[in-house]
Amino acid sequence: MLVSLTSTSPVATDLGFLLHKHPDRVRSVDVGFGRAHVFYPEATARRCTATTYVEVDPLGRTRHRGRRSARGLEPYLNDRPYAASSMLSVALGRLFGTALRGRCDDRPELVARQLDLEIELPVVPVRGGPAVLRGLFEPLGYDLDCAPIALDSRFPAWGDSRYVTARLAGRQTVRSALEHLYVLLPVLDDAKHYWIGPDEVDKLLLRGGDWLRSHPESELIARRYLRLPDFAREALARLADAGEDADFLDTQHDAAERASESPIRLGEQRLEAVLEAVRRVGAGRVVDLGCGEGRLLERLLAEPAVSYAMGVDASVGALERAERRLKLDQMSERRRERVRLIQGALTYTDTRLRGFDVATVIEVVEHLDPERLDVFAEVVFGHVCAASVVLTTPNREHNANFEHLDARGLRHEDHRFEWTRREFEAWAGDVAARFGYGLDISAVGAVDPVCGPPTQMAVFRR
Ligand code: SAH
Repeated sequence: MLVSLTSTSPVATDLGFLLHKHPDRVRSVDVGFGRAHVFYPEATARRCTATTYVEVDPLGRTRHRGRRSARGLEPYLNDRPYAASSMLSVALGRLFGTALRGRCDDRPELVARQLDLEIELPVVPVRGGPAVLRGLFEPLGYDLDCAPIALDSRFPAWGDSRYVTARLAGRQTVRSALEHLYVLLPVLDDAKHYWIGPDEVDKLLLRGGDWLRSHPESELIARRYLRLPDFAREALARLADAGEDADFLDTQHDAAERASESPIRLGEQRLEAVLEAVRRVGAGRVVDLGCGEGRLLERLLAEPAVSYAMGVDASVGALERAERRLKLDQMSERRRERVRLIQGALTYTDTRLRGFDVATVIEVVEHLDPERLDVFAEVVFGHVCAASVVLTTPNREHNANFEHLDARGLRHEDHRFEWTRREFEAWAGDVAARFGYGLDISAVGAVDPVCGPPTQMAVFRR
């Protein structure tokens, strides 16, 4: 799949600074489902084009699939290598994270500059056809040129496919153009190829907050981007909170609320269950291992019984987001002494992780390669060695209730595995016995009579 971004504003090669990608080089990164490359077919002062090309590895995806999913030839024969989908959006996020954050350290004055930009999408699936494409991009200030692609050019009578070729032109900052693509590609396709978690709402508001509020199709965008009515409702409500346009959005909010069948917000329920477990074991000094964007830390700091909270994560990006969420830079010195974020790995011993009453490990273990699990257990239970450990992980059996799974039938591209209830009990029981902990396993979220709960939680006490 391909997308090209062209600047015709002199000096057009400034695009390279804004994208943090040098026009003379090819840059490639792994994106989980394949490799993404950026290169410049043309780079002159008058016209400069950066092309992003994503190679999807369909067989790689197949090899990692769980034995349980049976979708016939679908993993071998699908449009993913060719059509600009949510996967392209993921790739743009990885390749151009700095540009999306609006940073250009070498030439900061360029960030806010509107350029004459063209975006070319040779093959993009559009549910609803060119009219939907126009409805999404024209209000953002783009001129559109788009043509449906015939199902088979040898048989015109068969009509058009659901794919179109699109060329958009508009005066935009590079950051806005990337945001528009990042949010709207999955909306056009209306089929996300990965598990939709609660942090998708944050992603949508982070990338779309500024322009989405006043977009006439904001409801369609939230609904398609987030896919789950609960999340769409939350996004629209938060947009409304932040905007002046409360009346207009209120009607959308109500409609979305009516459409929502399940009031369950799994992420929220999990946080509550973890906090309750932390309270029960007595809190004190808490370390959140794999803290991600700091959602739990935020709540821990609101607990009077938590005297000190530390977050550890391998990802610098996640830690940056945690820092912003916790507003560390605005904290008073006294509050600041109660919290700390550090970069670290859970598969290496690290003395900074010792001396805690409680360790929380929330939705992290499934991100580790199975062959690293023994080392992880050594570090968490043998070395960190907190008096109590609260650990949660998905229950794979429950996935039957979810519509949006990745090609392996798992909830997230980065999950290396997901355990059934028995597998989790076996692992947790073994760890508890080896390291001298008592064990209590419980359910989080609505329990399905056959498949069990969506999330499983183990509380280990020394
Ligand atoms: N606990 C958070 C984040 C879960 S996502 C929450 O519930 O919201 C999993 C997190 O684990 C990611 O932020 C990832 O960067 C981190 N992670 C995965 N493997 C890790 C490792 N080996 N060491 C440290 N962090 C890791």
